[in-house]
Amino acid sequence: MKIQAIEQIKAVPRIQKFRYLSIFISCVLFLGPLTLLPSLAGNSDLCGRLCMRRFYLYFPGMNWDDLFTHVSVALVGVVAFFVIITFTFFYGRIWCSFICPVGGLAELGSRMLNDRWKIEFRSLPQVQIRYGYLGVYMVLMPMLGVSACTLCYFITVPRLVEAISGGVVGLAFIFSTVGLVNLSLLLLLGFFASKGRAYCQFMCPIGAIDALVNRFGAKFRFTYHIRVDRHRCTGCTDCAKKCMCGAIKMVDKVAVVDQTSCMSCHDCVDACDWNAIEWTPAPRNKTPKRVKRGVEIHPEPQWQAIAFHPKPKVTEVAVDWKRVANGIIFTAVTLFVVFTAWVH
Ligand code: SF4
Ligand code: SF4
Ligand code: SF4
Ligand code: SF4
Repeated sequence: MKIQAIEQIKAVPRIQKFRYLSIFISCVLFLGPLTLLPSLAGNSDLCGRLCMRRFYLYFPGMNWDDLFTHVSVALVGVVAFFVIITFTFFYGRIWCSFICPVGGLAELGSRMLNDRWKIEFRSLPQVQIRYGYLGVYMVLMPMLGVSACTLCYFITVPRLVEAISGGVVGLAFIFSTVGLVNLSLLLLLGFFASKGRAYCQFMCPIGAIDALVNRFGAKFRFTYHIRVDRHRCTGCTDCAKKCMCGAIKMVDKVAVVDQTSCMSCHDCVDACDWNAIEWTPAPRNKTPKRVKRGVEIHPEPQWQAIAFHPKPKVTEVAVDWKRVANGIIFTAVTLFVVFTAWVH
């Protein structure tokens, strides 16, 4: 039994061992009782000045002064948020997959549990649920007076760690109504979710915004993102089975990465035996395909981060319902914001 466990640890790819270690160190630095970084900012957890989740809430009738007040209250969190999304633009969601102690702890917990107890969430329509919830979180909840702290991992995880180590504040939180609701969320969408990232995929506003930046950054050839070489891909689906976010789909038997769901964790890179998927910029091929009269002819680079859907034939009536749903969500939120700003 002991030898089997050692063998399993040995089989974990090196980059994933580094990722788990990085999350572990981050938990030690950010979460109680040994919390180091939050205490430097004058907090005992990830709230207050460190909160990255509240400054972009929209209250009907709010003006620029209100926005500046929100920003100044959580200034450290605001700066951290912009550092994270800038890094994501260039290198993908390294914060979420390698550093965030909140999503990371849920993933580590989930990976230590037996798969038969876990709920599979990865086949759900993640994008629609995520951005539908983001609209509710940013616009509807403030309007109805529901606190942004009601369903928040960023208070639950530090308080849970504090409670486990016997801290009175942590125990009081965990046994409060909000604490119990959040603890259930952490168990259902974290520890007992397959790969532990359901909360990240559906309910984290930071992750939802970070994912949009990831998608935007992936359009540029010089940025580092997960890209597929469609000519090497055999369509074996190994990467899709391994992906902790359900971000890989097969289109015409070629793997395609949904950059709004990918967390740049590198699991798919380790899974692919064909070197067909990489965390890379889109490089020019250095090896000439042929040399003609002394001129090197390079094939066009093939690494691509997003799918290019072939245009349907004119006779076909093709409705992409996912796009329709995304459009409805976006339009409803925009109309609501414009209308309430106008009424006030
Ligand atoms: S509970 Fe969450 S939303 Fe509320 S202040 Fe803390 S981190 Fe921010
Ligand atoms: S999605 Fe949110 S909770 Fe999950 S890793 Fe990213 S920032 Fe952390
Ligand atoms: S594992 Fe590699 S070859 Fe197989 S589908 Fe994924 S990218 Fe293609
Ligand atoms: S596509 Fe690859 S890097 Fe992105 S989340 Fe899935 S396994 Fe991780």
